[in-house]
Amino acid sequence: ALLTLGTACSNEREGSTGTGDSQAKGFAKDSLVGVALPSKTSENWVLAGDLFTNGLQEAGFKADVQYAGASTTVADQQSQISAMITKGAKVIVVGATDASQLVTQVAQAKQAGVTVIAYDRLITNTRDVDYYIAFDNFKVGQLQGQALVEGMKAKKPKGPWTIELFSGSPDDNNSKVFFDGAMSVLKPLMDKGDIVVGSSQTDIKQTAIQGWKAENAQQRMDSLLTSTYAGAKKLDGVLSPNDTLARAILTSVKGAGKPIPIVTGQDSEAESVKSIMAGQQYSTINKDTRKLVAETINMIKSLQKGDKPQINDTKSYNNGSKVVPAYLLPPIIVTKKNAAEAYANDPKLAPLTK
Ligand code: BGC
Repeated sequence: ALLTLGTACSNEREGSTGTGDSQAKGFAKDSLVGVALPSKTSENWVLAGDLFTNGLQEAGFKADVQYAGASTTVADQQSQISAMITKGAKVIVVGATDASQLVTQVAQAKQAGVTVIAYDRLITNTRDVDYYIAFDNFKVGQLQGQALVEGMKAKKPKGPWTIELFSGSPDDNNSKVFFDGAMSVLKPLMDKGDIVVGSSQTDIKQTAIQGWKAENAQQRMDSLLTSTYAGAKKLDGVLSPNDTLARAILTSVKGAGKPIPIVTGQDSEAESVKSIMAGQQYSTINKDTRKLVAETINMIKSLQKGDKPQINDTKSYNNGSKVVPAYLLPPIIVTKKNAAEAYANDPKLAPLTK
């Protein structure tokens, strides 16, 4: 069950105001903060890097923001984190390239007294991650599932609807959470026979797209179209976990000369917002990176003062070794209908909805 964010927030806020954590000591205001981000697989990561660099400096910290490269991602990130520890960072924010491959690095961090915040993606199989901050990933999946059904109903009021399922990279902990959220909506309809997965590929292993790479999604869609959909079978919808993959799926469908199905997405990437406005991609999710980075910096400010950072979830994110205390923000579903409203305060996206 999902908690009501508003209530949880205010409770936590009251609980932590003033009292602080008797064990936390805080650290100098101009300390170094490390930010280790994955490779730039989607626009949100590019944006986050710039926002962290500027926001941390504005708050008086020194910032060391690094990205994993395009190919040796895991090794890059491991050595970047180790270097941040050596340079004396007090807090390290990590958007993991591979959730389970940072055990050694976060253990080093713990030993050096560094606080580790998992950003957007959880770090798994370790007790040495202190906090998790993200948009509510299960909710993201639920909203994608709901949008898919809604979109298909609008085109064809009665089922059964034929769909295909895509999920994210298996090394990203979010992928399964997004998928589970979407399946919480789709599975009951599949059980009733209202939704049919044309290829019968419903296992997350069959639907996963390694590295969140567009070319891998396009390839899988190409092969589905030349097998399952080679004949007259019509594809009504595709569950896509993000915008990069959604556009790859649409490219494949158009290349095959097939009618455009309802395709979901996530991230509010500019190209996808344009596609939604043009009536091609059906939906995306707004996870405002500006908010997520700002809340992460608030967390760091609390730690600096020796206070307990604000959290609002202490049960959803078991990483295999412990439940990581989390601060979750609410994601917003966006279709052509509410795009103008959803991006009204986003100077980059608002003009695209006009
Ligand atoms: C993020 C998504 C993003 C994906 C690929 C996920 O961990 O939560 O927003 O689309 O990674 O970069």
